[in-house]
Amino acid sequence: MAFGFTQAFRTFGRLALAGAIGAGLAAGEVGAGQKTPSPGSAKALFAGASLPTQGPAQPIGFYAKGCMTGAVALPTDGPTWQAMRLSRNRRWGNPAMIALLERFSQDAVRYAGWPGILVGDIAQPRGGPMLNGHSSHQIGLDADIWFMPMPARRLTAEERENLPFTTMLQKNKFLTVNPKVWTESRARLLMLAASYPQVERIFVNPAIKKKMCDTWTGDRTNLGKLRPIYGHDSHFHIRMKCPPGAAGCTPQAAVAAGDGCDKSLAYWFTPAPWAPPKPPKPDAKPPKPPREMMVSDMPKACAAVLDAASVTSMQAATYGGPSAAGGPSAASALAAAPAAAPAADDDDDDGELPDVGPVPNDKPVVQ
Ligand SMILES: [Zn+2]
Repeated sequence: MAFGFTQAFRTFGRLALAGAIGAGLAAGEVGAGQKTPSPGSAKALFAGASLPTQGPAQPIGFYAKGCMTGAVALPTDGPTWQAMRLSRNRRWGNPAMIALLERFSQDAVRYAGWPGILVGDIAQPRGGPMLNGHSSHQIGLDADIWFMPMPARRLTAEERENLPFTTMLQKNKFLTVNPKVWTESRARLLMLAASYPQVERIFVNPAIKKKMCDTWTGDRTNLGKLRPIYGHDSHFHIRMKCPPGAAGCTPQAAVAAGDGCDKSLAYWFTPAPWAPPKPPKPDAKPPKPPREMMVSDMPKACAAVLDAASVTSMQAATYGGPSAAGGPSAASALAAAPAAAPAADDDDDDGELPDVGPVPNDKPVVQ
């Protein structure tokens, strides 16, 4: 009995922690440094910026080492989306990213039979590294979308904090999608996200990529954009290309040609990516802990981004907000539009126990 209780408690503790840290941990995106950052560290400074700089919008640096100016916020609610984990203040992105998310959410209802999207982390108001979760999401061109459909009602702020993640993987099986949870609508959602020319990559768990390789019978042109990676079993991650004219944005290498259902996927089904790190030799010196990233380690312009004047308020910088009168307002549409009804093949995710899934510890990867 005692053992059972201890196990249950441990499991609960792990899940509670996953809930507290959120998509990052559940998705295996937690960076190496969980210790408290020192006051001058890049993490502490960027996490401390509560509002974006004034425009124009520029991504600066690389997805996993950079910052941004002129970010706008995704409104917390729209007719076809709801933003999650609001307390984190990570609804900020390049306007191109926010516009894409709104468009994607509408297309998801129209073309994928999906009732609307739950949006996880995008970026901090000025981008940069975060105190927890994510090695990337630093320049406003990355966004996480839950695999859970938007419910037909507005979630309360509390629910948005605490709603557990649902893994798409089968418990106690190696890298296998759970057929009871996975649906064709999710496959359509992924391929829809990959269909936009400005989207460069979609990160998903290797089991999900394999499922797509094995089952997608439609046009496979964009299947290669789905990239297998650790975690990403309860959400997927959309990465946009550097927008045209964004001179300070460092592009990532293009995705290789083909559908990616090849050796690069087969690798994930070998022991190599899941092997624990080799123990150090008994006489070896203990390795130095990695140095904390300081602002001086980031692109030069990021120091100025931290010092730049803020917009006047969160509302003023919310996409479609008062500063964009006449623009594609989501916030204003919300009042008029009821939440979309769930699609017919929507599965019942609500209330299911959270599950971190059979994923290994995070390893340092560029996402
Ligand atoms: Zn992500």
